[in-house]
Amino acid sequence: MSTVYSSIASYTYEDLKPKLFHMMEVMNGERITRGSHVLIKPNLLAAATPDRAMVTHPMIVRGVVEYVLEKGGKVRISDSPAMGSLEKVMKESGIMSALQGLDVEVREFRSSVMVDVGEPFHRIELAEAAMTADIVINLPKLKTHSQMLLTLGVKNLFGCVVGFRKPQWHLRVGVDREMFGLLLYRIYSAVKPAFTILDGILAMDGQGPGKSGTPRHVGVILGSRDAVALDATVSRMLGVDPEKVFTSLAAIRAGEMPESIEVVGELPSVSQFILPRITPLVFGPRQTHKYLRKYLIQRPVTDEKLCRSCGDCRRYCPAGAIRQEGKKLRFDYDRCIRCYCCIEVCPHGALKSEEPPLGRLFNRFIQITS
Ligand code: SF4
Ligand code: SF4
Repeated sequence: MSTVYSSIASYTYEDLKPKLFHMMEVMNGERITRGSHVLIKPNLLAAATPDRAMVTHPMIVRGVVEYVLEKGGKVRISDSPAMGSLEKVMKESGIMSALQGLDVEVREFRSSVMVDVGEPFHRIELAEAAMTADIVINLPKLKTHSQMLLTLGVKNLFGCVVGFRKPQWHLRVGVDREMFGLLLYRIYSAVKPAFTILDGILAMDGQGPGKSGTPRHVGVILGSRDAVALDATVSRMLGVDPEKVFTSLAAIRAGEMPESIEVVGELPSVSQFILPRITPLVFGPRQTHKYLRKYLIQRPVTDEKLCRSCGDCRRYCPAGAIRQEGKKLRFDYDRCIRCYCCIEVCPHGALKSEEPPLGRLFNRFIQITS
């Protein structure tokens, strides 16, 4: 059995700090002792202010850092943002100023070590700092995810894949969400965070996890030593069957979903949490996948009024499927693997996913017949 601790909370620091400290205590934060090297991994997807709900809130990061420092631990905060430097993300998110006066090292993941995560991926490069820390504390944000449905505790560790290795893995795994869920689950199992605390106070619904998503007040923090149990608890709180979340599905198939989960504390009642629309995976003979993908599966489109021609999406696209013609973006939908990384990294919310006309018809047919 695994235990998940839940607490209704706000970002007011006088309210939040004792709740975070209590959560760390009951999760056996005593493991952190004088001189322990503690790596804190928030969700630092991209530079955005806290009201956009894209990154872990500065007060959550501050509370956990203060706890570790009180125990005598040495704190390093790291991530590998999809776009922009860690420093820029830390500044714009307000985390840097929230940490003022605290003895913290802030350093982007740079060097990697090879880790065997098993079949079918085998050796994968993961951030050395995450693999060598005495204790890893995982601080995910509760958000929807256009490709994976939700991004919670397990998925947050994908940030331990350094820099442009991330889009390379997207390319290798392609449009197969179940395979990508398995990859994320294996990365989580390799990093083995000692504690996971999820920021679900100002969450995100709709077309997350980037600027196309909608901030949504949920008002809760959840903590566990087992992020698989935590993710399943959050899914159920939102009315989502954990099997529908690809990272949880991978844990279920691996026999690692705990049979029973004890939830200690209050969970908020959440109604009408808007999930991103996920079109079915490709199916049928392999030769047909290219066509199914092209004509049925949601594809990225630009809102030309919002696009500032910064080129971030083009530079990040793992498939080289975007080119710029003057001020216009052109997508090569034959090449596009539907990973939606471009939507995730666009700093201006100028990209969204849209079903091709045939896909719309197909989905309507499925709804009518099911
Ligand atoms: S165009 Fe966007 S969705 Fe398509 S492969 Fe490139 S990043 Fe992924
Ligand atoms: S769609 Fe977004 S990321 Fe791409 S060029 Fe336009 S503003 Fe930049």
